[in-house]
Amino acid sequence: MDRNKVQEALNPITDGLFGKQRPVRYERPHFKVRPLVRMLQDLTSIPIEDMYAYAFSREPLNGKFDDGQRKSWMKQAVCCGREYAEKICCLYGVRSPEELSEAMGLKVEYPTFPENADRVLFAEFREPGNIKIYMDAVKKAHKFTERPEVKEVLTEQLDIKGLLLAHELFHFVEEKYKDEIFTKQEKIRLWSLGPLHNDSTVIALSEIAAMAFAQAITGIPYSPYVMDVFLVYGYSPEEASGLYEEIMEYAGKIPCCEEGEPV
Ligand SMILES: [Zn+2]
Repeated sequence: MDRNKVQEALNPITDGLFGKQRPVRYERPHFKVRPLVRMLQDLTSIPIEDMYAYAFSREPLNGKFDDGQRKSWMKQAVCCGREYAEKICCLYGVRSPEELSEAMGLKVEYPTFPENADRVLFAEFREPGNIKIYMDAVKKAHKFTERPEVKEVLTEQLDIKGLLLAHELFHFVEEKYKDEIFTKQEKIRLWSLGPLHNDSTVIALSEIAAMAFAQAITGIPYSPYVMDVFLVYGYSPEEASGLYEEIMEYAGKIPCCEEGEPV
């Protein structure tokens, strides 16, 4: 389910909430802008396991699964990420994402922007061992952490650059251990015909495990999915608020009031 589908599904509600803003012709959806600190407070209180519906909403094969399957996979992928965090730290005898990357022979670069600016991208891993962290997004978000009330919610522990690096590092780790790791071994059968069949990995499992891995490596006390909203906020408070609403709905929670509204 993509954002537009979610919007369609929520239309009976949003019609009421958004007045008559729903466009007849295509237009970017409008979202109420929510106060950053309130959004962060809400999101940091959702345990990573409760993010399963949101985590799978980006999965191309999501329509093939039911909630029972999503929940069970979420648990297994979270365990996988945590297990490999311990395994890798033990193996290399270091704990910071930078030291781990160096020990594993990765090339890490910190350009300001992605070369292709057609989509929002904060970091990426490319085989065989290249990671890029895009600093424009990191710097924008970092500015907000200078506000004491934001720092209090996100804690001293947060190092945005390190968190993004740890996430990407997992994608390298799962390639390295692809013959045994859960995220590469777990597959679903797309079709079979006599002795022929086509099996596919589930991308969401890799993303969930990468988030759990990054949380374990950096030691932040909340799920790194919070960064989806926090990093987007630097570019568009409105889009970030839309994403926040979506995460809250998926987690079965009620979003906070909009900016300036009496609480
Ligand atoms: Zn990823």
